[in-house]
Amino acid sequence: MDNSLLGLSFDEMKQLVQKHDLPKFTANQLVEWLYKKRCRNFDDMTNLSKTTRQLLNDNYDTGFHPPIKVQVSNDGTKKYLFHVEDGYVETAYIPDRDRATLCVSSQVGCKMGCEFCQTGKQGFQTQLSAGDIINQILSLPEFENLTNFVFMGMGEPMDNYDAVMRCLEIMTSEWGLAMSPTRFTVSTVGVIPFMKRFMKESKCNLAVSMHSPFHDERLSLMPVEAAYPISEVIHALRQHDWSGQRRLSFEYIVFKGLNDTKDHVRELARLLGSMRCRVNLIRFHSVPGVSLQSPSDKDMVQFRDKLNDKGIIATIRASRGQDIDAACGLLSTRNEMQL
Ligand code: SF4
Repeated sequence: MDNSLLGLSFDEMKQLVQKHDLPKFTANQLVEWLYKKRCRNFDDMTNLSKTTRQLLNDNYDTGFHPPIKVQVSNDGTKKYLFHVEDGYVETAYIPDRDRATLCVSSQVGCKMGCEFCQTGKQGFQTQLSAGDIINQILSLPEFENLTNFVFMGMGEPMDNYDAVMRCLEIMTSEWGLAMSPTRFTVSTVGVIPFMKRFMKESKCNLAVSMHSPFHDERLSLMPVEAAYPISEVIHALRQHDWSGQRRLSFEYIVFKGLNDTKDHVRELARLLGSMRCRVNLIRFHSVPGVSLQSPSDKDMVQFRDKLNDKGIIATIRASRGQDIDAACGLLSTRNEMQL
């Protein structure tokens, strides 16, 4: 929200403090209260003067907004619904033994129109602010348990680049939450100009949604292939040095009998050979009105093994939260938005 402090960088906080003629150190105090202590009320920021607290109360909102609804899957996954300025977004909390991953949304709806995705079917409604994005993390009841963060919820993160980057800056900077960038993975369908900036400007992991190595087939699944063909996406990725700590992965949704043939194995090996990366295989979940089919366990295992035989590190990502539509490709706030 416009007058929210959550989502401001340290520099922006300094500007705000200067604008109100407050002591310079107030910016340090504010980022500490908001990000390190997750303090929701100005009145609880006890080392600020009474007049400063009053000024903040009169003009601003901290920006913390707890989720308004939760659905719990029988596998422990939780899907939270957050109200944002012009709509609603969903966030999936996925606990797994000693890890817990949060799947964060970056837009209300999405412009990319991928054939297999419920968010894509919802169309695009609005961008999330950095505050709305980070609020999904900081206002999560299970915040303390979180170990990993994936920007794979609603929306294409590279289509809301500045807000996503600001959120990552806050999460990883010393003045913010000081978390390791390798705990964060940002996905993209391959929006090359922003993907290149991301590789240069961020140390977080990158996940590229591939789903098919063939142009025509990928185009039938993902309209973005017309603007950014997968061959050019991979060419851009190869210009970057992936030998450090950050990871590159490819997300590959498997559709029964469509993109798991021998030809696909061969082409994937040709495209990805010698690249330091991993392929995450995700079982397709049926979507109403889409004729694509879900593969069997056996199909998934066979495809993985064939890729591994070709030297590609491929793993099957366990499907979580399907019964509450929290699984990959199922997030949608179409009903809340009454679209
Ligand atoms: Fe958008 Fe991702 Fe869904 Fe494609 S898969 S429509 S990029 S949310």
